[in-house]
Amino acid sequence: MTRPVERLRDGDLHDRLSPLRRFISDFTELVDGVSDKEALLDHGGRLLGELLAAEGWLPESHARPDPDRYRQYLLYADPAGRFSVVSFVWGPGQATPVHDHTVWGLVGVLSGAEISERFAIADGELRSLGKERLGTGAIDRLDPAAGDIHRVSNAYDDAVSISIHVYGADIGTVERSIYDMKGQARPFVSAYAPAPDLPF
Ligand code: FE
Repeated sequence: MTRPVERLRDGDLHDRLSPLRRFISDFTELVDGVSDKEALLDHGGRLLGELLAAEGWLPESHARPDPDRYRQYLLYADPAGRFSVVSFVWGPGQATPVHDHTVWGLVGVLSGAEISERFAIADGELRSLGKERLGTGAIDRLDPAAGDIHRVSNAYDDAVSISIHVYGADIGTVERSIYDMKGQARPFVSAYAPAPDLPF
């Protein structure tokens, strides 16, 4: 007798996911039709803004903080590997290491706020290029051609923040780098936290 209940739950989740489903459909259409990176980031940023403005679509399974470290959950990977959509969940005070991406990215804050500090490597050290505070609804872009080394932290030490990221590859599988304060790179593959596949 549990089967109809499970089906109902799946149906509810399917309904709740409709803003994300529309975003994925629109973004797929975008990468199908646009090869210019600037145009893709401009248009893609607008689509991400619409997704951030929609409410209640991020499943609880992909919004769970971890007491020890920030988490990244895969929401969707394009079957052709052209983009991925990931939820980042920052517990109070949590931060990434200094890292790069090697592919383009869009970062949109769904709830809470984040601090992004950008860096450049010069004369054998890591130099801060300044910090930027991204509040709820803000969108940042990452472009390796313009320098994409940064560290991101939760702006709050007493609350969870969540952001939605889109990258120009299946980012959890990309070989990239983290950096120490001397600018020395170490290989880094970020992977994803365990979460159920979503019923698109
Ligand atoms: Fe990053």
